[in-house]
Amino acid sequence: MPVRTALAALAAALLCLASTQAAQDDRRAERERMVANIAQLAAAGAATGSGRSRRLDPDVLLALRRTPRHLFVPQSQQSRAYTDGALHIGYEATISQPFIVALMTDLLDVERDDVVLEVGTGSGYQAAILSQLAGQVYSVEIVPQLAQRAAAQLKALGYNNVAVRAGDGYAGWPEHAPFDAIIVTAGATRIPAPLVRQLKPGGRMLIPVGASSRSQRLTLVRKDAHGRVRSERLLDVNFIPLVEPPR
Ligand code: SAH
Repeated sequence: MPVRTALAALAAALLCLASTQAAQDDRRAERERMVANIAQLAAAGAATGSGRSRRLDPDVLLALRRTPRHLFVPQSQQSRAYTDGALHIGYEATISQPFIVALMTDLLDVERDDVVLEVGTGSGYQAAILSQLAGQVYSVEIVPQLAQRAAAQLKALGYNNVAVRAGDGYAGWPEHAPFDAIIVTAGATRIPAPLVRQLKPGGRMLIPVGASSRSQRLTLVRKDAHGRVRSERLLDVNFIPLVEPPR
């Protein structure tokens, strides 16, 4: 290739890279406001369960600052991507309110080398946040179209330590178990036994549990070093129902 053509190609490639980065970053100011609002809500003790002031982990806030939420929602919802509300993402699924994503991520207390399971990939946003805090994230989504879309978007945005599988997450992902942490982002009527089994001793699981399919208590399940399991109900939440096998 003649030098001039090569230089022109390089310039075009750089321009293209710059414009993709700009496209991701042109919502940075909104994102900063969203995160400041979340930190303030937690500090005020709003909806944290205890009513006590909570200081969210700076690494969790940093992950929220860096993650382009607008690229995880349909075009029609993009203008509202940085408001603190849940948004529809198709197939009856919703992407959770950013405050709840922040709070749940904080409560999950993920460490750098942790292997984390998410049940209910949805848009892939929660998985993207977790991937910045954990070693590896496995996420299961029951709607194949959502699983496929989230997997493609996570890959395109460079979240390389996330694997998505289309399937029933009630059964977990036994091939990659045990997990340091499990997060269920759909409302269950009971704590799935397979997920408890797939939790490491010392591990924790966050799951919305409730008799009604529209309102649940966010529940923290801990397995101690001896395998004993304890659960603690934290706060009221509203998730779409988890698809569960009949009792
Ligand atoms: N965490 C998602 C939001 C999830 S909404 C995000 O960040 O966007 C809840 C999702 O759980 C929906 O996409 C729904 O299809 C999925 N779901 C419901 N039951 C499921 C099951 N048994 N296994 C896997 N996914 C399930």
